[in-house]
Amino acid sequence: MSAFRTVRGMRDFLPEEAKLMKFIESKARRTAQLYGYKEIITPVVESYELLAAKAGEEIRSRMYAFKDLGDRKVALRPEFTASVARLIATTLRNEPKPLRLFCVGSLYRYDEPQQGRFREFWQSNYELMGSNKPEADAEIVMLTDSLMKSVGLKNCVFKMGHVGVLRGVLSHEKLEDKVQNEVMQLMDKKQYDDALRLAESAGASEKCIVTIQKLVELKGGDVFETVEKAKEYVRGYKRAVDAVMNLCEILKLVSETGEKIDITVEAGFARGLEYYTGMIFEVYAPETPIALGGGGRYDRLIELFGGEPTPAVGVAHGIDRIMLAMQRQKTTLRTEEEKTIMIIPIKEKLKREALKISRTLRDADIPVEVEVMGRKVTKALEDADRRETSYAIIIGEKELKEDAVVIRNLKKREQRVVKIENIIETIKNNKL
Ligand code: AMP
Repeated sequence: MSAFRTVRGMRDFLPEEAKLMKFIESKARRTAQLYGYKEIITPVVESYELLAAKAGEEIRSRMYAFKDLGDRKVALRPEFTASVARLIATTLRNEPKPLRLFCVGSLYRYDEPQQGRFREFWQSNYELMGSNKPEADAEIVMLTDSLMKSVGLKNCVFKMGHVGVLRGVLSHEKLEDKVQNEVMQLMDKKQYDDALRLAESAGASEKCIVTIQKLVELKGGDVFETVEKAKEYVRGYKRAVDAVMNLCEILKLVSETGEKIDITVEAGFARGLEYYTGMIFEVYAPETPIALGGGGRYDRLIELFGGEPTPAVGVAHGIDRIMLAMQRQKTTLRTEEEKTIMIIPIKEKLKREALKISRTLRDADIPVEVEVMGRKVTKALEDADRRETSYAIIIGEKELKEDAVVIRNLKKREQRVVKIENIIETIKNNKL
């Protein structure tokens, strides 16, 4: 029955996967704290108008849009940036800068489902508003590197560029913004021939086409050498030269932190979203050909939403893809194994006592399951074993008369009678 299947593009997360996702989320939240980003929670449903306003055509055409019962045109958010920009343009308008904000949650895009691409997916999103300085760009890159390392991912590579390089060349040729956007979108999809043809038909000179061709081919892990070459290629295009210098400054700051961050510069790198104005980047793991996260600078977005002109730089990390990369790298979760307890009353009439003790243990922060199936002790113990429970607490009449219970260490297969008042101490201090 199709009604009993998840809707195409949607997934269930069973306990193991849910645990992994929550682990990444907790690391993302910790990274936000370590870098001074305050968490905000915005609605999943926003007005269609707000979400459609600045999303590129790519995203706009894939929104889950509908009318609510009050006849309002609304949509499920396809990204966080519009909601954050709304806040900065309204409620947080007069907030002192810099303003560092963090959000994490689910997003919805009617994409074609495939490896690492879903219709419901999760992102951690960081926005730094109010600074146009390269140290702000460097911070966003460093923060991304910190998160990838803190979840245990290895060998991540950053791909970096600057939209000002291509745009500087195109705008020098007086190509309209709309055409520039289309050229950039084709470049993002790696349809370079189509992009060049479009630029040519819009009036770009031969010199411009050749320059763009050279930029597209220019990529390298020796970032400063690549940047030098890019500077040579764009000589005469003032805004493009400024963009290369800005990228160089950011790269210097990132590389001088002492932390090894693997970066490749791609001079012809374009990211789909139209609102980027400066440095742009994506981060990859070798095991996954799709980006784990991406971001960049967008200095004009807030004013497009009606706010004060506010320079801004941000990043969104795809939690689902980080999960995928961790699974492929067989990353082991660095979480402390928690001790778990199963409480088994030997007789029906002892269940009240079982519930009472379970409550005392939980109040002492110890996770407890109570036997609720009315099974015999041997059966219940088999089940506890299967669940990899650490201890069983067996409540019997004889021990209870002495205010005691039997505690059994299920791993060591040893057991002892312990006074009820000493249960917590015995478990917490590994006395059995
Ligand atoms: P974007 O908001 O398009 O810049 O994407 C930022 C990050 O979100 C990407 O690098 C992906 O990791 C993730 N992402 C975007 N779209 C999807 C999707 N349909 N499914 C899963 N992750 C996605």
